[in-house]
Amino acid sequence: MSEEWIVCRADIRNKMHEAGIFRQDEKIVLTTKGCVLLEHFTGKAYSYRMVDLHTLKAKRLFSRPTPLNEAGYRRAIEKMAAQSESGMPFVQDVSSRASGLLAHIFYDILPEYGLVLRENQLSLSLAMLDAMEKEKVALCEAEVGTGKTHAYLMAAVIYRLFHGEGQPVLISTSTIALQKALTEEYIPQISEILLEHRIIEEPLTFAVRKGKNHYACDSRVKTYLSSISHNNRPEDRKLIEILTALFVGAVSLDLDGLPLTDYVKERICVENCRNTCGFSSVCRYRTFLRRSNQGKADFQIANHNLVLADILSRKGGRNRLLPEHGILIFDEAHKLPEAARQMYGISFENVELERVAASIIRAVAGRPEKRGALSLCEEMLELNTALFENLKKFAGVRYDNNSMEVIFTPSVLLSLKALSAVVKSLSVLFYTADRRNTAYRRISGRLEQKQENLAVLCDYEDFICWLEYTGVTACRLCALPKNLDFLLHEDLWNRGKPYLLTSATLSVGGDFSRYMHQTGIDLLNQKQILTVSKASPFDYWNHALLYLPEDMPFPNTRKTAYRKAVADRLEGLIRQSHGHTLALFTSYRMMEMIYQELSERIKDFPLFSMGKGRLEAIREFRKSGNGVLLASDSAGEGIDLAGDILSSLVVVKLPFPVPDPVLEYEKSLHEDFHEYLAEVIVPGMLMKLRQWIGRGIRRETDTCVFSILDCRGSGRYKNDILAALPDMPVTEKIEDVGIFIRGSKPESYFGDKE
Ligand code: SF4
Repeated sequence: MSEEWIVCRADIRNKMHEAGIFRQDEKIVLTTKGCVLLEHFTGKAYSYRMVDLHTLKAKRLFSRPTPLNEAGYRRAIEKMAAQSESGMPFVQDVSSRASGLLAHIFYDILPEYGLVLRENQLSLSLAMLDAMEKEKVALCEAEVGTGKTHAYLMAAVIYRLFHGEGQPVLISTSTIALQKALTEEYIPQISEILLEHRIIEEPLTFAVRKGKNHYACDSRVKTYLSSISHNNRPEDRKLIEILTALFVGAVSLDLDGLPLTDYVKERICVENCRNTCGFSSVCRYRTFLRRSNQGKADFQIANHNLVLADILSRKGGRNRLLPEHGILIFDEAHKLPEAARQMYGISFENVELERVAASIIRAVAGRPEKRGALSLCEEMLELNTALFENLKKFAGVRYDNNSMEVIFTPSVLLSLKALSAVVKSLSVLFYTADRRNTAYRRISGRLEQKQENLAVLCDYEDFICWLEYTGVTACRLCALPKNLDFLLHEDLWNRGKPYLLTSATLSVGGDFSRYMHQTGIDLLNQKQILTVSKASPFDYWNHALLYLPEDMPFPNTRKTAYRKAVADRLEGLIRQSHGHTLALFTSYRMMEMIYQELSERIKDFPLFSMGKGRLEAIREFRKSGNGVLLASDSAGEGIDLAGDILSSLVVVKLPFPVPDPVLEYEKSLHEDFHEYLAEVIVPGMLMKLRQWIGRGIRRETDTCVFSILDCRGSGRYKNDILAALPDMPVTEKIEDVGIFIRGSKPESYFGDKE
């Protein structure tokens, strides 16, 4: 319907032109089956006339000092219906009025603010609106440059305007950067535009929701402040200044915006909020929660983990974490499966019970139940040690990511059940010993939660279980429900609400089956699902080149010859592109080895390596102007390196999913390895590759060479890769890289700095 509407619009202009009634300064603001409403701004007022499309007669309707709002549209439609001469049925339902207004915004209003019309963006927004109206689960893939954020925000505003939706729109993101962009740029901007055009009466409002550890606890700030108040080092004085400002309310409670270390944030964030807290009547965090939970804001903004935590909390009969909402929009939806794994999974660390034991020892000092409690506590710790020893002793397959398959032998099960029983006894002891004792109640609650996890692990057949090392000796037993897809289907998609999932990569060449299967969306009736895939508006054919060498050895990081071949080719590419390179690796070890090798050879361009979480390397790379950044997967998404700084993006090895217990389980569900490869492994790799390639061209004027130094890229998977990536010229000759760069970059590019 939406695409048709746009074609009609162009037809209408042509028709009116031919009939000599077209005016350049007029905008089409509304169409019906029989008539069109036109708006003209005289400099003082907005004048409206209608054209009957069958008789092609124009009639003046009315003028008003402001543009039409929702009530104005209604009145205009009534007038048009009364004056229509054609006798054609005058059909203008809510949906067509809503989509008419949405199209008018994209066609006529946004360009006034420099937001040029992109047909892909408008049709995406119309499809999103359509999905909201029909309460569908919409998978909206929009490649870089499409403008998906404006598309869904506008669609959501118009939906609420026409459908009287009182509940807030919940937007879930994966990164704080996107939350910041939404609250500091997108929402204020569209609010101003829509207000100026009287499409909305009040500014759009929003509330950002994060986990409690992102906010300051007044009580803990005070305690920490007292503990450092006598320190005299300059850095402490600065810290005292910030914490004092925080305590007196001169700065926001949100710790993410404050220049504090993770250690300090951990010491002052909201932890276990108690009713007995002396601040409870004036607590700013509680006031913030109360206000946010009233749900008066137009948009609630949270992250995937918090949204899922809210769903699980309500399902378990506990407090809600977020207010009731209407439309739920998952932006950066490619991260949702990972968040679901975290939130629906269970983990039990080998040190957890040691921490509870420390609290028990403190709490029972001098109490009559001391003896019984300490004896059970000792037994609990012995069984805990025995459980983890058994888990390690009988572990099965070892995976790359520090994890091992758990084999539930009779002795593992025995220690698990015995531990669960002792933890339960201790929990009961603290629950019944003294209900007025706060420390006892907290210990009992903690033990109860551990026991619940242990009891779940005893039913291991319904779970994918593995043992994961988190440190030299620290490890945890993890479990993920085998029916995660079913749970997501029940808890999310099947609740009769509109859901919108958007990202640059949700499909492989328009096929969403892998993503739908991971998230349980494929369990819905097909009629409830809408899939849209919008290609990037950027001109890859003229602005990009894909280099697929045919002479690279098979990737094997243990082989010196392979490492040397990668270093040689990378050096060649860096020289061809005159620096300006981001090389993405799938392994830190390989990245570090190549970094060492290249630092001996490359002296004319600054070389950076980005280890885990070293975001300053990205900042330095950006500042360098012509540097070379070696990075891991974490730089492959979520960072924006627009302009010439990134002109050559090198994929060292194809990013196939790393084998882990969850993939191993998925493998067991497939008939044979080839099917598993085709349905899980290759789509996973192609989706990740598309994300990586998406870093290269961020603006219409950007030009970039993409290189894949994995022989499988020019061999076995070449056709899959070419089908998944935007169309662009392909070469196997490295000299073409230099020719492309010289032909597409300005003179200044080849200086030391841009
Ligand atoms: S009521 Fe809770 S959040 Fe507020 S100050 Fe007390 S402990 Fe901290």
